[in-house]
Amino acid sequence: MKICVFGTGYVGLVTGVCLAEVGNTISCVDIDQNKISNLKKGISPIFEPGLSELLANNIKSNRLFFTTNPIESIENSEIIYIAVGTPSDENGAANLKWVKEVAGEIGRYLNGNKTIILKSTVPVGTNILVKTIIQEELKKRGKPYHFNMISNPEFLREGCAINDCMKPDRIIVGCENSEAKELILRIYKPFIDDPNQVLFMDLKSSELTKYAANAILATKISFMNELSMLCEKLDANIEDIKRGISLDHRIGPHFINAGLGYGGSCFPKDVKALIHSANEYSLEFPILNAVEEINQIQRTRFIQLILSKLKPLSKVSIWGIAFKPGTDDIREAPALEIMHALIKEGHSICAFDPVASENSKKYFLETAPNLSHLISYCDDQYMALDNSDTLVISTEWEPFKEPDFERIKKSLKSNTIFDGRNIYNLGLMKELGFNYHSIGRPAILTSR
Ligand code: NAD
Repeated sequence: MKICVFGTGYVGLVTGVCLAEVGNTISCVDIDQNKISNLKKGISPIFEPGLSELLANNIKSNRLFFTTNPIESIENSEIIYIAVGTPSDENGAANLKWVKEVAGEIGRYLNGNKTIILKSTVPVGTNILVKTIIQEELKKRGKPYHFNMISNPEFLREGCAINDCMKPDRIIVGCENSEAKELILRIYKPFIDDPNQVLFMDLKSSELTKYAANAILATKISFMNELSMLCEKLDANIEDIKRGISLDHRIGPHFINAGLGYGGSCFPKDVKALIHSANEYSLEFPILNAVEEINQIQRTRFIQLILSKLKPLSKVSIWGIAFKPGTDDIREAPALEIMHALIKEGHSICAFDPVASENSKKYFLETAPNLSHLISYCDDQYMALDNSDTLVISTEWEPFKEPDFERIKKSLKSNTIFDGRNIYNLGLMKELGFNYHSIGRPAILTSR
């Protein structure tokens, strides 16, 4: 099939590459010249395991093309995916500017009967809005083309996006007729074992399913974080409680880690957008307001704890900047807020992240140009500790989990670790003589 994908971000690029891998001819369109010229050379704008290899193979096999020209891509494709960003606007609503722009372009250049698939996370009514924009443009041109509008929200997780796309647990599809259903089953046949993995519903329910999924996962995280606050008051251990509830099949082991809360490009904006949608219908959605509030409190508490223990003008090592392991995405990452708070107080930082340092450099140059000189970056997790007073763990990357503790101890002047992800064993920290602060567990305080 000939397919074009608008947007070469985490979703559009992975979708394009995976659709090419199973034999389709894909044209990926983006407005970002720099991204497209790099992609043409096989250089991925994002870190995603397995992506670069698939990118190179499919470019070489002439199945994957990149362009900033939407006209040719629309004209030569039978299927058009929209996978552009939908970040929060100033009111918390999903900003549909980019989705609407693409809809306008499709309407202006559509040259036959085609299928439009909206993959971006969008509020209820957006598929109909996109359809209307396209129809209006077609009307202006006097072109009575027929097109099917399909809602197909994406559930891939950064860090394992290729696998999620190639082997999805389910595919949500909102559509209006059997022709659309048949086409979707054809597109996704190579990715599924059983057609029952494709769940068909109306457009609105499909749009809302995506928000429901992210909101419930964020709710689980905030629930555990609120419980972690009580654990700290009671000297109970949130990790034991996690183990205790995770074996209950009704609860399960996922998304019940207490820590620095959720971040990334999806949960924060999608929780906000769902609240905003509810407000438009005079519903408060109190549970999600609490989810957001707890997420913020949890970070603020951790930052205040760190600041309260630091001597003036300390040097702090940060392990992990990405919002979660496996990605270079730093959007809404807790580390950024911690780093901002530290440099604002005059502390200096040496940070290490396996893949996100470049994004962090750019971010602090933009958001704290006068203080960004206080942050340096190391290519090695242990070098980041040299002459530091304390270590803060903000992302649970694998190499941080079983480190050389003796080396850490030798390097850190205050022997203190603030672990925002609860990756170390309390008993071990005590035995090794660290001052160790984690989330929802008793602090270990040993003097040097
Ligand atoms: P992103 O910000 O990484 O990428 C969006 C891309 O769209 C950018 O490269 C931008 O230049 C491009 N773009 C903007 N306007 C364009 C236009 N007119 N024509 C062509 N390209 C254009 O976004 P993302 O993280 O890939 O997310 C895309 C959508 O998918 C969002 O709605 C998001 O909520 C949703 N989603 C994201 C994830 C994730 O893990 N990132 C997971 C599931 C769903």
